[in-house]
Amino acid sequence: MPNDQSLLAYLNEKKLNVTQQRLQIANLFLALPGHHTLEEIYLAVREKTPNIGQTTVYRTIKLLCDAGLAREIRLEDNSSRYESNVDRGHHDHMLCQQCGKLVEFVNDDIERLQEQIARQYGFTLQGHHLLLFGTCGDCRDKASSDS
Ligand SMILES: [Zn+2]
Ligand SMILES: [Zn+2]
Repeated sequence: MPNDQSLLAYLNEKKLNVTQQRLQIANLFLALPGHHTLEEIYLAVREKTPNIGQTTVYRTIKLLCDAGLAREIRLEDNSSRYESNVDRGHHDHMLCQQCGKLVEFVNDDIERLQEQIARQYGFTLQGHHLLLFGTCGDCRDKASSDS
């Protein structure tokens, strides 16, 4: 569980108001496992704190991304999911385009090859985000049993 300190420090540094609402949203989101749309996060927040507006939730999530406490995963259809980036190691994602399932993976060979390719092109890497997309095993099984 993250403490409020890093968020507080960030908000203060950016001269942003540390409101009770922002902290509530941040704490709830950062404790939420998995990958979520803004809409889903808003609904989860509203369950606990009915008076929070949608815009406040959306802005706070963006803020958390800027602070490096949350991570935005942009999908190939240009929609986004958000996940907590606190105490998480690097990982990449695989998306099922049928059911929307996001699977996390890390592969040392892929990581190493990316570094190697970057070097070949004279790039110094700051990071990367790899998204593979296709059909997951469950959806493929369903499709073949339907026919
Ligand atoms: Zn990676
Ligand atoms: Zn993830």
